[in-house]
Amino acid sequence: MLRHMNTTGTDECADGNPLGRVTLESTLTCPVCGHLKTEIMPADACVWFYACEACHTVLRPKPGDCCVFCSYGSVPCPPVQAGAGCRG
Ligand SMILES: [Zn+2]
Repeated sequence: MLRHMNTTGTDECADGNPLGRVTLESTLTCPVCGHLKTEIMPADACVWFYACEACHTVLRPKPGDCCVFCSYGSVPCPPVQAGAGCRG
C-alpha cells in the first residue's frame, strides 16, 4: 500500500516585516490651491517641508503634527502608522 508523504516545504507567506502593513503612499492636498499629489513617504524619516508643485507654496506641519503628511496627507507618516510616533 502506497502512502503519500507529507510535503516538507514551508509556507513563505508569513510577513516578517514590521513595516509590511504601513502604507508608504500618501496623497498631499495643498491647502492653498487644492492641488493633489501622491508622494512616497520615507519609511523612517519625517518630512518637514514640502513645496506644492502647482503653486509653489512651502507647506509645513500644523502645530501638533510631526510632518507634512500628518497635516496634509491622506495617510499619516509611517512612524505614526506604526504607533511609534515621531521624534521630530
Ligand atoms: Zn498649491
